[in-house]
Amino acid sequence: MGIPTGKKLGFGMMRLPLTVPEKLTSIDLPQVKQMVDLFIKRGFRYFDTAYPYHEGLSEETVRKCVVERYPRESFLLADKMPIVQVKGPEDYERIFAEQLRRCGVTFFDVYLLHNLGRDRLPNTEKFGGFAFLQKLKETGLAKNIGFSFHDDAEILDEILTAHPEVDVVQLQINYLDWNGAVAQSGRCYEVVKKHGKDVIVMEPVKGGQLATLPETAMKLFTDFYGDAAPSPASFAIRYAASLDRVKIVLSGMSALEQVADNTGFMQDFVPHTAEEHALAEKIETELKSAIRIPCTSCRYCMEVCPKNIAIPNYFALLNLYAVTEKKTETYYQRYSMNHGKASECLKCGLCEKNCPQHISIRKLLEEFAALYET
Ligand code: SF4
Ligand code: SF4
Repeated sequence: MGIPTGKKLGFGMMRLPLTVPEKLTSIDLPQVKQMVDLFIKRGFRYFDTAYPYHEGLSEETVRKCVVERYPRESFLLADKMPIVQVKGPEDYERIFAEQLRRCGVTFFDVYLLHNLGRDRLPNTEKFGGFAFLQKLKETGLAKNIGFSFHDDAEILDEILTAHPEVDVVQLQINYLDWNGAVAQSGRCYEVVKKHGKDVIVMEPVKGGQLATLPETAMKLFTDFYGDAAPSPASFAIRYAASLDRVKIVLSGMSALEQVADNTGFMQDFVPHTAEEHALAEKIETELKSAIRIPCTSCRYCMEVCPKNIAIPNYFALLNLYAVTEKKTETYYQRYSMNHGKASECLKCGLCEKNCPQHISIRKLLEEFAALYET
């Protein structure tokens, strides 16, 4: 049936505002309610959540801030099955029932297998993941089915060839990854297009990396726009939304101002011009020389780390150091107060198996420990 939406911006409920910095369960509910109200008031209606976001509290937050405050027909809700936690066919039913309960709904508009890729495909097939999706659709428990994906274009093509029943694929698309060898945004998009499926975009601002551009890239930006320069984040979101198969671009909004900015330029969405597209390519080239570790802060590594090491936070500090050559000790002290230190890494490699960006986490943590702990 396709996603019934007029506006292309979706509200990703995975980086919600917090009352205690770094404490993912301390969601600032009054602010989230204000954000939701503004989003809906401006005519947007797509919300995206998932089982592990905010250590399990994102779905409940959707219920409190959206579901219990707006009629069901006034919003669209997407949720995802955490296939990494599925150990047998019965887990699909159990987790799905829990998700309906947590969200307080009787169906999802979009339901996805979360973070599918080459590694997770065998178990997903073995435990009947796709058959489960199809059953949800036939019984009306999910209006559109598909999967979110972080792997290469070749395996994506294989999955879509084997499973023409899916309606939609959620892909990481942003101008920094468009030609990238890891996320392969461009190649994956072409595969989905070839199979005639809809695309939902995640990480259009690459975990915030495209929201604050380094000086040299910023100069290209302001030279192009002059005094009327939009925010770099809006430029990145419009880039992804300009692709014709894209139905929704998700933005993980963390503050009311971000909702105001995003809904402002996406209300009467204007696609990138050819000149803006060329500018994105120039900025991509510039940034590739500046950003060292392509971490998107998705935190999938932390879900499996036995030492609860704050991997994305430490990588953000390494990225900063690469540009500024300055250490920011206070941040490290704060992060390591409630998380494992980099030097506590057991080298088990579980994090690397779960990292969609295929980052050499163990090696970089060693480097980080040498910089910050000696
Ligand atoms: S290798 Fe280190 S950082 Fe990765 S999961 Fe194991 S302990 Fe955690
Ligand atoms: S290291 Fe990988 S898995 Fe961990 S937050 Fe960064 S991109 Fe995500």
